Amino acid sequence: MVILKKTGYIFDESFFWHDNGSGTLYLPAGGYLEPDVFVEAPSTKRRVNNLLNRCGLIKELETIEPRSATREEIEEVHLPSYVEYVKQLSDTTGGDAGDHAIVGRGSYEIALLSAGAAITAVDSVLTSKVKNAYSLSRPPGHHAEPEKGIGFCIFNNVAIAAKYAKKKYGLKRILVLDWDVHHGNGTEKVFYEDDEVLFISIHQHLSFPNNTGYATDTGKGKAEGFNVNIPLPAGTGDAGYLEAFQSIIEPITNEFKPELIIISAGQDPGMFDPLGRMNMTAAGFGAITNVMLELANIHCNGHIVFVHEGGYSNAYVPFCTLRIIEEMSGVKTDVEDPFTGSQTTDVVNIVQRQAIDEVIKIQSQYWRAFEGVMSK
Ligand code: ZN
Repeated sequence: MVILKKTGYIFDESFFWHDNGSGTLYLPAGGYLEPDVFVEAPSTKRRVNNLLNRCGLIKELETIEPRSATREEIEEVHLPSYVEYVKQLSDTTGGDAGDHAIVGRGSYEIALLSAGAAITAVDSVLTSKVKNAYSLSRPPGHHAEPEKGIGFCIFNNVAIAAKYAKKKYGLKRILVLDWDVHHGNGTEKVFYEDDEVLFISIHQHLSFPNNTGYATDTGKGKAEGFNVNIPLPAGTGDAGYLEAFQSIIEPITNEFKPELIIISAGQDPGMFDPLGRMNMTAAGFGAITNVMLELANIHCNGHIVFVHEGGYSNAYVPFCTLRIIEEMSGVKTDVEDPFTGSQTTDVVNIVQRQAIDEVIKIQSQYWRAFEGVMSK
């Protein structure tokens, strides 16, 4: 009897208990800033979990309990002094672990579990317990650098999971693809000189952090060409994203032939996000998920792991994330995108085309797949 494997779903209630305190958007309240809900809040993630339950898709998934990352696993990426600093803040008063990376009371243990959830996802896929896996990790990770937290990220979940996969399973070719609307500066920094991890970040040009994510930042030393930044202009929608996936990410991935794909899945390119200016719909997220699932099937027995990053629209993140998990699991629910049709996203305009061509031109120095493409 053939038992069809399910999609793994990894989360823990404590992810929703990491407390950024009150704020106004991403700033602490005070002065003329009236206190409001801090923008990186449990609600977006909790509502993803709620929608999975409400529509019944949860029953088709293999829910897996995460384990905590060990200190040793965290320190494969982060300086011991930084890890200790986070622990001290978490045990005492709480505070900022860098640049807008709030540590609340007890956040250290939750951050260990959030990184451990990404590791659990890697384990469950590479041991064939499930066919692929989605970790609803919180706090997010992709901005966190070895020596400090940045942009709501305390420990770099995806970088820690990739390091773990290298060490535990001896993998030599891991693709980390970051589609969060903001540049994956932390992950870039960790692997900038590592040719065993191909890092691709597709993001809104010069949104956050300031002054990173340029297409010309291509890696260093033996890893020249293993860092691929795809900065897109504000307003890019489904068509522009899909074009970038098909004309840049697909050919590079086909040449790299990854043994494992890890997605930094930030749903903040969604069209209603308060911290992004992109125009993606849930259907668009479904389409780019399909591109990556197909690449995983071609190159690595479908071994692909999704780790939640940003996404701040309470209303829309759940629908975008549901669409992703539907594609992963192959189970279509009766949930339709209630917001479809409110914006036009089906055009690749000239500015988006130029941005994509610029990346191809730069990357054609490193990837044979682009030979002759620009002269057409
Ligand atoms: Zn983001």
